[in-house]
Amino acid sequence: MTTTFDINKIRDDFPILKQRINGNPLVYLDNGATSQKPQSVIDAIVNYYTTTNSNVHRGVHTMSQQATDGYEDARSKIRQFINADDDKEIIYTRNTTEGINLVAHSYGRQNVGPGDDIIVSNMEHHSNIVPWQMLCEEMGANLLVVPIDDTGELVMDEYEKMLSSRSKLVSITHVSNALGTILPAKQIVEMAHAHGAPVLLDGAQAVPHMPVDMNELDCDFYVFSGHKLFGPTGIGVLYGKKEYLEAMPPFLGGGEMIKSVTFEKTIYNDLPYKFEGGTPDIAGAIGLGAAIDYVNNLGFDQITAHEDELLRYGTEALSAIESLRIIGTAEHKAGILSFVIDKAHPHDIGTILDEQGIAVRTGHHCAQPVMARFQIPATARASLAFYNTKEDIDALVKGIDRVLEVFG
Ligand SMILES: *Cc1c(COP(=O)(O)O)cnc(C)c1O
Repeated sequence: MTTTFDINKIRDDFPILKQRINGNPLVYLDNGATSQKPQSVIDAIVNYYTTTNSNVHRGVHTMSQQATDGYEDARSKIRQFINADDDKEIIYTRNTTEGINLVAHSYGRQNVGPGDDIIVSNMEHHSNIVPWQMLCEEMGANLLVVPIDDTGELVMDEYEKMLSSRSKLVSITHVSNALGTILPAKQIVEMAHAHGAPVLLDGAQAVPHMPVDMNELDCDFYVFSGHKLFGPTGIGVLYGKKEYLEAMPPFLGGGEMIKSVTFEKTIYNDLPYKFEGGTPDIAGAIGLGAAIDYVNNLGFDQITAHEDELLRYGTEALSAIESLRIIGTAEHKAGILSFVIDKAHPHDIGTILDEQGIAVRTGHHCAQPVMARFQIPATARASLAFYNTKEDIDALVKGIDRVLEVFG
């Protein structure tokens, strides 16, 4: 069941949005870096620490069982949210970065050897570049980079040419954090599978904006961060197909991930615990579960309709500014407006906007190769969430007018 999309009521659910910054109402357009949290998520975390705090899977006492139930219920919510088949396929991590590193260490070291290829794209976040560079260096493998065109779309012909029996993994973003491009993920997966290569999709910028479905995408790994999905920092998700996860060695050794330990031999725990060494972020998992409840209650039909309208409105408004150029003009985009302005450095744009209470990100967005591709050092990036409004975009445009006054 979904509620009607009442934007004022939705904004009321996010206490931070009522703040004033530098004397102006906050206009929060930095959702690509991290999203704000509804009161229900804050309450879930406070409630956990107020009433339940205990370690999971370890005690027979009541609170420990309640903590375990909360932690495992959240796992089931995540499984349903991404339409995976089995809770065992949902591994808690700290964030997207840790999920990718887990796969690089565990799957990568086991399966990648000298002369093998790992394929990424030119629009990856550094989190989806550096772990593969480290792996390739260690194993003597090659990192191949699929180019992007001037609009920010993947060049699919080049991708096809790179695939071969040497391809050991394709690791590509689902939505670009720097450009907003929505990649043709299903097609990327099908093409890789035709060459026997598994696919990891970086879903950090996808899950806040659109429904994702593991059965439909048929990817082998999928990673995202709770904090970009209106949940807390410190909790993230790695989805992996059971047959891959079962064959992979553990990443971190320690408590929680074992069945039995002697100095002669340690028996590893079953999935998903095999990959969850040490005391996890229990409150974080419960908070992420509450965030997913919140998103489900709004429903992606309403979320995407609202955000698409905002993106269209914002694209039109920014395109009308003569000295401004939007970077990333793919046909299918989600939630991101990256731009540069003649004469004004992105850092100065960000500073002048901040004086007016407008939060945007400026810099390379942890995607320096994208900046190199467009031959720019940085962009200013406005990134949207469902609680943004046309008034937020109007404020941005007014803020840019001020930038133009200063630098015009
Ligand atoms: C934010 C982001 C990451 C990294 O997320 P962390 O939470 O910092 O680990 C990776 N990929 C994309 C596309 C992102 O937007």
